[in-house]
Amino acid sequence: MKVFYKKKSLKNRLEAIRKKHLKIGLVLTMGALHSGHYSLIERAIIESEVVVVTIFVNPTQFNDREDFKKYPHDIEKDLMELRSLLRKEDMVFIPDNKEMYPEPDLLVFDFGHLDKIMEGSHRPGHFNGVAQIVSKFLNIIKPDLAYFGEKDLQQLVIIRKLVEMTNMRVQIVGCPIIREPDGLAMSSRNQLLSVEERKEAVKVYQALSQAFNLADKIPVETLKKNTIGFINNSSILTVEYFEIVNGENLLPIKKWIKNKHVFACIAVKAGNVRLIDNIRLINKQYT
Ligand code: AMP
Repeated sequence: MKVFYKKKSLKNRLEAIRKKHLKIGLVLTMGALHSGHYSLIERAIIESEVVVVTIFVNPTQFNDREDFKKYPHDIEKDLMELRSLLRKEDMVFIPDNKEMYPEPDLLVFDFGHLDKIMEGSHRPGHFNGVAQIVSKFLNIIKPDLAYFGEKDLQQLVIIRKLVEMTNMRVQIVGCPIIREPDGLAMSSRNQLLSVEERKEAVKVYQALSQAFNLADKIPVETLKKNTIGFINNSSILTVEYFEIVNGENLLPIKKWIKNKHVFACIAVKAGNVRLIDNIRLINKQYT
């Protein structure tokens, strides 16, 4: 693999690759890589002839300065692991802030209701920052395929919308959530959890699993109340939101419907660490 720090040299290399009509796959990350990231990269390796992995902690998507400052970094470890995974022709792009934001980005996006609920209502400006950086990377790299985790379901829906709104020709590929053996969704932020918080964090997945088992058996509102109660019972965890939505358009679901795109989405604070997760609520009779 080759590592790039500058847009210009990356673009030159990509131009040569495009002339050979090779399929380019892109995985965007903020580093502190884990198996969730590697699952996206492995899929990209299978489906694309050249893979570009980016590592960039995007400041414009952080509404909380402290969260940005303490976001985990381990570039050396990331590069070591990427070296054993990526092929000779694959690339890693690690720009700095000046490279990505030579001028402040004034772009404002309107995603309608998509960025008003859940993460959007708890992290004002977050998705505008995500859309700014994702459109920058898509414009620089112009991949054929770009891989995103379903762990960030709302982000995935918004990026699909962004691509549709801006007529970009990239295909967005959603990839399943990778979990720790006890069910906790993998996340770079998990390493910020204390031992106690990490132990309690498993309740997020337990709550989602209970929701999966109870979906369609009890009313939506009761399920929401029970799930929130289960988590808030912990002295360490606090629910920020728990919503049942249609995973294609993020509209809230008030009554159970025969639709395989019903998702339960949750955000929980464990101390100062935010955990987000979701589960598809498919009942056996719908599959
Ligand atoms: P991040 O570095 O957290 O911005 O994540 C980079 C990409 O990896 C995003 O598309 C995430 O949705 C995806 N991702 C992060 N954690 C997981 C996970 N546990 N399973 C699958 N994808 C993930």
